[in-house]
Amino acid sequence: MTTTPARLTVLAGPTAVGKGTVSADVRLRYPEVWLSVSATTRSPRPGEVDGVHYHFLSTGEFEAMAARGDLLEWAVVHGRNRYGTPRRPVEERLAAGEPALLEIDLQGARQVRETMPDALFVFLAPPSWEELERRLVGRGTEGPEERARRLETAKVELAAEPEFDVTIVNDEVHRATDELVALMGLRTR
Ligand code: 5GP
Repeated sequence: MTTTPARLTVLAGPTAVGKGTVSADVRLRYPEVWLSVSATTRSPRPGEVDGVHYHFLSTGEFEAMAARGDLLEWAVVHGRNRYGTPRRPVEERLAAGEPALLEIDLQGARQVRETMPDALFVFLAPPSWEELERRLVGRGTEGPEERARRLETAKVELAAEPEFDVTIVNDEVHRATDELVALMGLRTR
């Protein structure tokens, strides 16, 4: 019997494409998929739970983690808050022979490509630019300034698609999730 080595899968894509929605769907329908919990300096949104959706840290706490080398990657996202992947849980998971999933921004994905080039890099794409704009406005969690900032980021991020191993179009969240889970070599249902 041959065993496939555990693989790291990195899901990235433009802002508001629905990475968070796909992650939430993975959590809900495929609890057997291990999803990294990122550290962030942004404040929790309503319904977000510390340690489940993110580790919510102060800037000082985040900087200390980064300085200790405890983050696999980290980035300032949308020119504002810091987000990073705690290194140890990912390494432990892979060492135990279990696949792991990261949902991070493009800058983070590029850092992971430098340190873990064997990872599978998945680009989550919107069905169209208009749909991406609609989703960004529709979410209604950010003010106009923040939305404009995120659209700018999204334009740059869309152009990065060719850097990725595979693209999943997020036309329907369950379908996109199933495609991601299948790519990770897990059984879909
Ligand atoms: P939000 O604030 O909407 O939850 O996330 C904003 C952005 O931060 C998203 O594009 C998300 O992919 C990204 N992000 C979340 N966690 C991480 C992380 O650990 N590292 C990096 N580089 N980006 C992250």
